[in-house]
This record gives sequence, structure tokens and C-alpha cells, in this order.
Amino acid sequence: MADEMCAGLGKEGGSRVQMLLSYVDKLPTGREEGLFYGLDLGGTNFRVLKVQLGGNDKHVISCESREVAIPPHLMSGSSSELFGFIASELAKFVADEEKGTSLSNEKTRKLGFTFSFPVRQRSVASGTLVKWTKAFSIEDAVGKDVVAELQTAMQKQGLDMHVAALINDAVGTLAGARYYDEDVVAGVIFGTGTNAAYVEKANAIPKWEGELPNSGEMIYEKLTSGMYLGEIVRRVLLKLSLQSGIFGEIDHTKLKTHFHLRTPHISAMHHDDTPNLKIVEEKLEEILEIASTSLETRKMVVEICDIVARRAARLAAAGLAGILKKLGRDGCVDKHRSVIAIDGGLFEHYAKFSKCLEATLYELLGEQSSKSVVIKHADDGSGIGAALIAASQSQCR
Ligand code: ADP
Ligand code: MG
Repeated sequence: MADEMCAGLGKEGGSRVQMLLSYVDKLPTGREEGLFYGLDLGGTNFRVLKVQLGGNDKHVISCESREVAIPPHLMSGSSSELFGFIASELAKFVADEEKGTSLSNEKTRKLGFTFSFPVRQRSVASGTLVKWTKAFSIEDAVGKDVVAELQTAMQKQGLDMHVAALINDAVGTLAGARYYDEDVVAGVIFGTGTNAAYVEKANAIPKWEGELPNSGEMIYEKLTSGMYLGEIVRRVLLKLSLQSGIFGEIDHTKLKTHFHLRTPHISAMHHDDTPNLKIVEEKLEEILEIASTSLETRKMVVEICDIVARRAARLAAAGLAGILKKLGRDGCVDKHRSVIAIDGGLFEHYAKFSKCLEATLYELLGEQSSKSVVIKHADDGSGIGAALIAASQSQCR
């Protein structure tokens, strides 16, 4: 993992681990001051935030936010439709938040934009979309600068706002956690997708052209994310059912439907602690229309969930160990703390996944090294992180 990360920093396409540069060369310190907005576009919904920063370690004085669901048809429509919708919701939020205040007469508002898809950046406030992931597929946006798209849409809404930084959720989580704790070395997301961001020494990035920035980030995906775990279990169950009839004579329509069994479903079955696996029984019936299962069969379903979640968690832990190794922080004992800030629905809600992830990381590092490594759940770093980076990038210190 660490070797692949090095290779990915060496040249474009030089590794199976895609290392993307974030161009963020100033992480927030706590001294930032003023009003900043954040916009977080991740999976199925987006969030808008307004953050008032106090400066001089007064940190966040106030933070207001609103979550908006993205209408499914916009996920595969046109770029201008998607960004038009986002800009109009953002404009509504700003109007509501600033009602009765004199802010609207002041200078241009500053926005940090968290856009959690692979983007190739050439500066901190621009980036072309490499490809869509998760549920999105808006062909005409691929290859375009998503900041320019958003900026144009905001202009059409008459919204006086400037995008000061474009980041992804992992960079946002890193920034949000570092703002409060300077020992944070990486921001990691286990949600619909998986990715991680860490601070790299500028001179360790051969592929960087031009003036050197101080940061870097990497993205990897081994079908370990929330998007896939339910689907993997579905495929295993389908194969078992077709090959050995474990569920008896059933209608396979639901079991054959791609992505029909979702990760929250397998999480619910996996955590079922009722004596007769009542929840497993209900889920199989409700979601897959598999009725009258025996306790033995239900136990096997739980075991399959366990195998799939464990595989994902152990691979994810290997990724974290790789980052620590790359940073030279996999062997140090008690010298300095290394905090890994993690966010994302999978990590937050799938307890057996997060427990296994943590246990595996400590297993890989060994008892001594583990003492200095801390895993921290960073709740909603990605939204606030965007506003914080907008602040750190636009203030000269
Ligand atoms: P994103 O911002 O990428 O959309 P989130 O961090 O919001 O992702 O996480 C959403 C993902 O978390 C879902 O795709 C799902 O796989 C997973 N998830 C949500 N709730 C649960 C749950 N109860 N158990 C397991 N996984 C869950
Ligand atoms: Mg998210």
C-alpha cells in the first residue's frame, strides 16, 4: 500500500492507487476569523452551511446548516440542471440565514465546496471532474471544471458568492479535525465510497509541476464501501440459492435485482441479537421476499454478512496502516500521537465494521505502535471543513 502510494505520487497513472493533489497548502489553525459558507455534495443529498469563526482559538461561534435531498432524476441529467438546483437551494438558504441582517451589503461571500468525486485539480479553487462515482452519471459534466459550473449557476441565481476552495470529503474531514487537534494526520471516509487524505511533503511529489504545495491526498476503492457491501451479500445469497436451493422454492426476482439489498439492511441482520434471529427473518421476507427460513439458514446469512463486512474492514484497515507507514508513523512509540479522523455512514452506523477495522489496524501495527495511534470519529468534518478551508485559504497569515 505504502509503495503504491509512493508510485502514485511519482507519475500520473503510475499506480493502482490514484493519488490526487488537493492543492490545499494551509490547513486551518483555529485563528481564522469571519463568516464562511460551506457546500457538501457527497452521495444522495447535499448540505449547505454557514459558519461564523471567532479567530484566536474562539473557534466556531455559530454554525447553521440545511440538508437537501437531490432529486434522483438530476443525478443523471445535465450538468447545468444539477448545479442550477444546488445554486438555487444555496441561494434560498443564504436568503433565509441573512434575513434581517446587513450582511448582504457586505463584500462577496466566501464558499468552500466539498465535492466528493474524483477531480483533477490544478489549483485549490478549480478542478475538472475525472469521472462520476456512486449514483451519479452526468456525462456532460465529465472533464469540466466543477467550480466554474457552480460559479455560473450561482451567478444565474444572482448570488454574490465566490468559491474559495474545492475539496473532497476526506480533505474536509482532515481540515475539520485538525482545526481542533494538531495531531490529526489523516482524514478518512467510509461512507457510500471510500477515500482518505493526508498531508504530504511537497518534495515527495515528483509529479507535481510548478510551485510546490504542501498537501496531497489519495483515493482508493476495493469494493469495501457502503455502496457495495449489501450488493456483495446479495450476489452470494443469489448464487447459493440458485446452486443449492438454500431458501427452498422461491421467486428470485428481488434477489436478482442489482443493489436491491443495501448495506444498512445487512448491517441490521448482522447486528441481530434476538435469540431466533427475528430481524434476519423479517429483512429476508420484507426485502428479498424469502419467507419461512429455518434458524440454520438465518445463521448462515449472518455469517455471510460477517465475512463480507470483515473482509471490507480488514482491507480498509490495511489502507490506514499503509498511510501511517507512508508517513513514517507506523513504528513510533509514544513519541507523538497520530490521530486518524474518520467519518462516513458506514463507519458511523455499522458497528461491527468499525470495531473490526480498529482491531485490525492495531493488529497490523502491533501492540507498541498502536499506543500512539488514535482513531477518532469526526462527525461531519466534510461540511465544516469546506468552510474552514475557504477561511484558511482566503486569509493571509
Ligand atoms: P456519502 O456522503 O458518501 O453519501 P455517507 O457518509 O452519508 O456517504 O454514508 C452513507 C452510506 O453509509 C450509505 O451508502 C450506507 O452504505 C451506509 N450506511 C448508512 N446507514 C447505515 C447503517 N445503518 N448500517 C450500515 N451502513 C449504513
Ligand atoms: Mg458524505
